[in-house]
Amino acid sequence: MAKSNAITVVNAGSSSIKFSLFGEEGDDLPVFLKGQIEGLYTANAHFIAHELDGRVAGEQRWSNPPLDHDQAMRHLIGFVQGHLGEHRIEAVGHRIVHGGDAFAAPVVLDEETVARLETLIPLAPLHQGHNLAPVRTLHAVAPQLFQVGCFDTAFHANQPPLAQAFALPARITDHGVRRYGFHGLSYEYIASVLPSLDPALGQGRVIVAHLGNGASLCAIKAGRSIASTMGFTAVDGLPMGTRCGSLDPGVVLYLLDQLKMTPRQIEHLLYSESGLLGVSGISSDMRTLEASSDPRARLAVDLFVYRIGREIGSLAAALGGLDALVFTAGIGEHSPTLRRCVGQAAAWLGVALDEAANQSGASRISAPDSAVSAWVVPTDEELMIARHTRRLLAAA
Ligand code: ADP
Repeated sequence: MAKSNAITVVNAGSSSIKFSLFGEEGDDLPVFLKGQIEGLYTANAHFIAHELDGRVAGEQRWSNPPLDHDQAMRHLIGFVQGHLGEHRIEAVGHRIVHGGDAFAAPVVLDEETVARLETLIPLAPLHQGHNLAPVRTLHAVAPQLFQVGCFDTAFHANQPPLAQAFALPARITDHGVRRYGFHGLSYEYIASVLPSLDPALGQGRVIVAHLGNGASLCAIKAGRSIASTMGFTAVDGLPMGTRCGSLDPGVVLYLLDQLKMTPRQIEHLLYSESGLLGVSGISSDMRTLEASSDPRARLAVDLFVYRIGREIGSLAAALGGLDALVFTAGIGEHSPTLRRCVGQAAAWLGVALDEAANQSGASRISAPDSAVSAWVVPTDEELMIARHTRRLLAAA
């Protein structure tokens, strides 16, 4: 029997590798297998994979020695090969956080391109190297395999120059020190579904709130990113689960000079000990904070909402008005309370939510007479990567 084609999408982080297998059925790309290995570099690594119907397709644990990225990837390759059934893998698409100035669109990952992307590790030291590790493993195991890199920065690459600029001298900005923006694959996916929500939105002024462990907002005009809250790094903008968001740069100088903190200690503070976790002292998880009666949990959520409200105002100014507000990612998709509070913070712009629709998790959650429509749209970064990978494969 002839085998049907499939695309694998790989999303490798610092301590986990996730994969999804997409079948190619005409224009559709249905997922048929998903899995992940978590706990890399710990004594508690765990692999689990699920079929589409939720059945467990495989599971394994490791304690010692800890798994590294290469070992984890080799396990996943072996597992996938044993579970392809009537499929054959045509290509692999990878999520890569940073494309720098040079990569404004998805790219085929040959050896030379990977080497160039490795030079961007200083721009995203906590992610870029991990994103590229599985590409290296696949180059070693299957040199002929068609691999594609899709960048979190690419959707923002054509923002107006003013939206990308810092008020710094050229001798600094010449090093590539500018605003890049992240979560681009999520925003690109949302932009791709806007016309199906309302044909007018394809040309409209939209703010998308990607509220997950990482959180940012993007201003989209006629389907293109024109501004976003994340900047040079993914620690900028909104407070997040454990990241602080925008901070007066003078605070960093104070930490260095007066508190004698090292750059690594400051990095850990700003990326891993701040945000919802830092303010509450309880948890980075919105569910835990919403369920808590502790005033510190309340303060963390209130600050999150306040910052979102202010940034919505800022992006509405960049857009010159607002036609729609879209919520996505873990908190945006699942927390009616948070959406209600953000809706109230944006009421002055003409956002009026329909509370029954908001509670029910409907797609459109704004009142019929709301000047600005509001929506909940589940994001799908993996599908976006699969689409790009298929497109580059077809063009090869
Ligand atoms: P990541 O950025 O890691 O992909 P997610 O998009 O999965 O994160 O979002 C994780 C966040 O979503 C967590 O703060 C979690 O508490 C929150 N979340 C998930 N489900 C709910 C829910 N039902 N109510 C409130 N928050 C939720």
